[in-house]
Amino acid sequence: MPASPKESVRNPRVHDQRELGGSISPIEKPSLRGRFAPSPSGPLHFGSLVAAVGSYLVARYYGAEWQVRIEDIDPPREVEGATDTILRQLEAFGLHWDGPIIYQSENIPRFKDILEWLKAEGLLYACDCTRKKVNQLSDNGRYPNICQHKKLSFEGEVAWKLRHGDGDYSFFDQIQGNCTFDESLYREDFTVKRKDGLMAYQLAVVIDDIDAGIDHVVRGIDLLDSTPRQLRLYEVLEKPAPLWFHLPLAINNDGNKLSKQNHAPAIEAKNASVLLHQAIAFLGQKPPVSLRSEPPEIIIDWAIEHFQLETIPQQQQILYSES
Ligand code: GLU
Repeated sequence: MPASPKESVRNPRVHDQRELGGSISPIEKPSLRGRFAPSPSGPLHFGSLVAAVGSYLVARYYGAEWQVRIEDIDPPREVEGATDTILRQLEAFGLHWDGPIIYQSENIPRFKDILEWLKAEGLLYACDCTRKKVNQLSDNGRYPNICQHKKLSFEGEVAWKLRHGDGDYSFFDQIQGNCTFDESLYREDFTVKRKDGLMAYQLAVVIDDIDAGIDHVVRGIDLLDSTPRQLRLYEVLEKPAPLWFHLPLAINNDGNKLSKQNHAPAIEAKNASVLLHQAIAFLGQKPPVSLRSEPPEIIIDWAIEHFQLETIPQQQQILYSES
């Protein structure tokens, strides 16, 4: 029986939050595990620090493990040395992970096996459309399932699309509340293997989260509309979906998301305490000013002890100014 995405919809806010683990089936509380999954496309900046700190605090607050996974399956976007820089930054900011670092690229054979399985189940088809063609035929940028009946060969330069489901892929987010999307998102066949032969983010992230026993996903709200697609993958793979926590995004004065692409400055170890204090405050917590001069581990310990899920802003974007 495919797991209904709705089965994962649970609201710890209406329970004693410490009971969270008890409400997730079939994973028992002691194996609760969260993760931070950066792509090695550059050093961490304030926006990615917020995601790292947010996922760390949620995991630790619930007594869960916190895994770090390097999402290194997109070589054209990778920056040499970025993985090492990211790991050193996490250490300097007192964000200590459990277990080995997971390198997504090592799981490519596993992704390929699953793609073959999905293909054998008749859930995939090949598509040779260009982005230009998709944009011409669609007014919202969504793929209008053009190739679904064409029976194109899976060989060569074609994307592999997963057939959409019939379900309702809305979900309850632990921070943002009920999240519903346009029907066109639920009914879009989406890419699981890219035209250039690389594995698509949606596929890799879901398989890795399942394999690692990740039962709660804390990440930036820019990935909110990836979640219905990921729920479709949990459905076809017949696995229970994790709990979702989407954090507000840090934006700059121009209204753009802080990102590696728009050259957000890398966070520096020498400013670790101040930046951590800012990240924790950004997440709606109220760290005392005196904490700013404490070492990172002390600040993190305070934040875990005083963590309040309810005060994380239910907002899409928050302006971040460095001062
Ligand atoms: N690797 C993704 C990123 O750096 C995050 C994936 C996720 O948290 O689901 O944006």
